[in-house]
Amino acid sequence: MENYEFDTVILGGGPAGFSAGMYAARGAISTAIIDINMLGGQPSNYLELENYPGMKKIGGFDLMEKFEEHADMFGVQKFPMQEIETVDLVSVPKIIKTKEAEFKAKTVIIATGAKSMKLGVKGEDEFIGRGVSYCAVCDGAFYQDKVVAVVGGGNSAVEEAMYLTKFASKVYLIHRRNELRADKIIQERAFKNEKLEFIWDSVVEEIRGTELVNSVAIRNVKTGMQSEIAVNGVFPYIGITPNVDYINGQIEQDSKGFIVTDETMKTSVDGVYAVGDVRNTPLRQVITAAADGAVGAVYAVKYVELAKEVVV
Ligand code: NAP
Repeated sequence: MENYEFDTVILGGGPAGFSAGMYAARGAISTAIIDINMLGGQPSNYLELENYPGMKKIGGFDLMEKFEEHADMFGVQKFPMQEIETVDLVSVPKIIKTKEAEFKAKTVIIATGAKSMKLGVKGEDEFIGRGVSYCAVCDGAFYQDKVVAVVGGGNSAVEEAMYLTKFASKVYLIHRRNELRADKIIQERAFKNEKLEFIWDSVVEEIRGTELVNSVAIRNVKTGMQSEIAVNGVFPYIGITPNVDYINGQIEQDSKGFIVTDETMKTSVDGVYAVGDVRNTPLRQVITAAADGAVGAVYAVKYVELAKEVVV
């Protein structure tokens, strides 16, 4: 078991974590980023972004590589592939344990992001990897000339449905209401896409198949009518839930589990900040995650400077 001491330990290496890392290290405090996976976070799986200022079009992976190089430039130490087992956010110093190491820190910046929500229907878990996928960019190419269904009506569902039309012969977008939640510009593009067919006011009740998925059972929520559509794949995109299992009630969270912060990204515990998708924020974008990271890190640096008497 390795032992490390840092002024700040950042949990999560996505856009919020990298940005926090850059600002903290540039603010001359010793800084580490720990991530359960390789670094890069959710945008690493985005095919393309066109709304990060200064980048008219850039691959999600490429943008995250630039974030990482920038954090490296200021000397952030990186610990990828480390699963957080326990955290003590209230103690002085704060302690983070992974399978491989123990980290002591004066401040912690939580940037562990969020993950896809499940439909919770019969067949969903059973067919993961055999027709059920939560990542169109990862698995879309397997559906060349096949028929797939995307579930949801937000930006993710609509963008990923459009992406899947590059491969699939037909993409159904099944949404529980009769209007989309996605941004208008994204909706306009989707309505022009001839391979996309919208199934309104409907919910998926079961994902069916034998070896692989071969259909979804749906129900119209207005008429109650049930039907079955033949599909080879199902991509649920019904929103996200925060990655906070390790927190164990130590800091205030909202009813959906997102961490509550003030405008400085401070949580209910002194010296603990939360940034990006993991906190209760009105907008979850790369730019807002990066902005959160900057604010949280600047206040973490101030906290370290003010608490010089705290001996780690
Ligand atoms: P979201 O905006 O929360 O949309 C979730 C969608 O799933 C909604 O349409 C919702 O229906 C539907 N839904 C929720 N629970 C459901 C259930 N149990 N069964 C069936 N449908 C269900 O989530 P998201 O699309 O994953 O986006 C998350 C955040 O990332 C958003 O802030 C989004 O703007 C952002 N994002 C932005 C971009 C971009 O700007 N390029 C791309 C991707 C994501 P209702 O509409 O009826 O509530």
